[in-house]
Amino acid sequence: SNPANDLQVDRPIRVLIHGASGRMGQALLRLLPEFPSLQLVATPGRGELSAAADFDVAVDFSLPEALPPLLQRCREQGAALVTGTTGLDASARQALESLAAQVPVLWASNFSLGVAVMDRLVEEASAVLTPAGWQCDIIEQHHIHKKDAPSGTALTLGASAERAGAEVRYAALRAGDIVGEHTVQFAGVGERIELIHRASSRDIFARGALWCATRVAVAPAGMHTIRSLLFPA
Ligand code: NAD
Repeated sequence: SNPANDLQVDRPIRVLIHGASGRMGQALLRLLPEFPSLQLVATPGRGELSAAADFDVAVDFSLPEALPPLLQRCREQGAALVTGTTGLDASARQALESLAAQVPVLWASNFSLGVAVMDRLVEEASAVLTPAGWQCDIIEQHHIHKKDAPSGTALTLGASAERAGAEVRYAALRAGDIVGEHTVQFAGVGERIELIHRASSRDIFARGALWCATRVAVAPAGMHTIRSLLFPA
């Protein structure tokens, strides 16, 4: 176990893992012992949510269509939600926002510390380079099983560039067993900057999500972000 990651709590935080049989779910189950404050109480599969034990926080890595019943359950019992499910449409995002009026909610396209820092760098670079006429492109690569494209992370990084007025173009490759690679390129005339993040293990996302669960479970209702937890104002 890694006590530095964990949070001191009076009683265990009861956690439900949604999507436990999936690639991310399996990593969450394996890394859970690093967070002794979290006590696993349920790992419901499809259609098993209504029979699941009560919980304080749900950690979800599933599919957009799996979210509505989970949100409903969190609302019913006032439990927090940490979700990394990507490919959400506008109505799914709206549903998360409305749940956040009652309980703490955190959605992140990427739970890695490195991407949170890269997101800041992209915003800072874009603020200077976009007005100077530089073009921003985001190239992302993932394993062949990933369904959504461009990735949620690419869209989040793109949104940070767009805040400075950039018109971001995206390219997505699906190949082999790539865990995740994102390149944000700023191209001027005669020069280019490339910011690259390479994930070589899914564990960074799972560990980050569990770290968020310990914080969000004791946070006030509202929409939280990994950036606001990592870099409090
Ligand atoms: P996966 O296909 O391996 O697992 C999906 C899981 O969801 C399985 O356990 C499956 O049983 C479950 N599921 C599917 N439909 C369901 C339903 N209707 N009800 C209940 N459960 C259902 O996928 P994965 O690679 O583990 O990725 C899951 C999600 O997490 C994807 O959206 C992926 O893009 C995202 N992801 C996010 C991050 C991040 O850091 N935010 C990192 C990796 C993956």
